[in-house]
Amino acid sequence: MKAPSKGLATFSLDEVANAMDRVFNFSPGPATLPTAVLERAQGELLDWQGTGMSVIEVSHRGKEFVELAAHSEKTLRSLLAIPDNYRVLFLQGGATMQFAAVPLNLAGSDSRADYVLTGNWGQKASKEAARYLSVNVAADAKDTNYTTIPDPGAWRVTDGAAYLHYTPNETIYGVEFHEVPEVSDAPLVVDMSSTLLSRPIDVSRFGVIYAGAQKNIGPAGLALVIVREDLLDLARPETPSVINYRVMADSDSMSNTPPTLAWYFAALVFDWLAEQGGLAVMAELNQRKAGKLYALIDGSDFYANPVVPEHRSWMNIPFTLADPALDADFLREASAAGLANLKGHRSVGGMRASLYNAMPEEGVDALIRFMTEFEARNG
Ligand SMILES: *Cc1c(COP(=O)(O)O)cnc(C)c1O
Repeated sequence: MKAPSKGLATFSLDEVANAMDRVFNFSPGPATLPTAVLERAQGELLDWQGTGMSVIEVSHRGKEFVELAAHSEKTLRSLLAIPDNYRVLFLQGGATMQFAAVPLNLAGSDSRADYVLTGNWGQKASKEAARYLSVNVAADAKDTNYTTIPDPGAWRVTDGAAYLHYTPNETIYGVEFHEVPEVSDAPLVVDMSSTLLSRPIDVSRFGVIYAGAQKNIGPAGLALVIVREDLLDLARPETPSVINYRVMADSDSMSNTPPTLAWYFAALVFDWLAEQGGLAVMAELNQRKAGKLYALIDGSDFYANPVVPEHRSWMNIPFTLADPALDADFLREASAAGLANLKGHRSVGGMRASLYNAMPEEGVDALIRFMTEFEARNG
């Protein structure tokens, strides 16, 4: 029997034992998926949709897969309230392919695009774009070591820019925009790889939204692109057709063979999100999960997070120990307690806990218990 309410102290012994058997995966990506999704995929592996075959082994042009594709798009449109004048594309090449696809699809080589850098993914996107057009870095938080977001009022945007690109959640530094900046008439292009589906967003504010799947959507190998229809016909003639937004929109993302297994998993994740109650429910949960971990970090002299509070990420929470000599012990003991993949990125050091949609609140509670005990033993 479960206790009706859950302060940290009210877990039953069974639940504690249960939690010890369970692995919570805090990986930044590829990342944890909902257990229910993995179980469903396991159950369907040898016989998908009564075909007697797996989803991996059948044609993407067959009735079952075409239905899956349509169903997944419909569910995603409903989750994100995507307006009718946007197309949804399921592409290959990850988010990194979009670093090149964006300039190739949206602008000629003599044009200029604005990039706002709040971490290393924005840097990478701007470097790739600079191979195809002229990049103006409108703002760069480098001098703060990427611990904040420069005030949009001070961004140096270009008149007549083809687009303005930024990274709503910087996965490594744990810096997140909690509002959409209003600074430019150019279409906003955003790399939402590590935040898409973590909360409701107003899609109509953006020209292009893209995301690699392996953070909050499904397996690696798939990228989602949500593009406003008036931006579909600006591609340069030499744009490869598999990343040409018009070509892929007209072929329902099947101008060639799509990554069917990754798409299937994404479809299951969308269904799972709808069953949870949608993105408003996820947002509340995500904010609560992140909030309790930040509260622990801020309430202790043993742990620290350098990001200014109003720009802290709900999805990726880097933290350091007061004494870095304890890092190795922390990681080894956490891993032994079933708390996996907490090592921080080499450019930031310390730890990082990624709390995507599929990380249950119990996982965060288990991490908090572990961190409290570790501090008591070593602080
Ligand atoms: C992980 C990540 C990427 C890279 O994604 P790939 O699919 O490996 O190309 C790009 N941007 C952000 C914000 C990410 O978190």
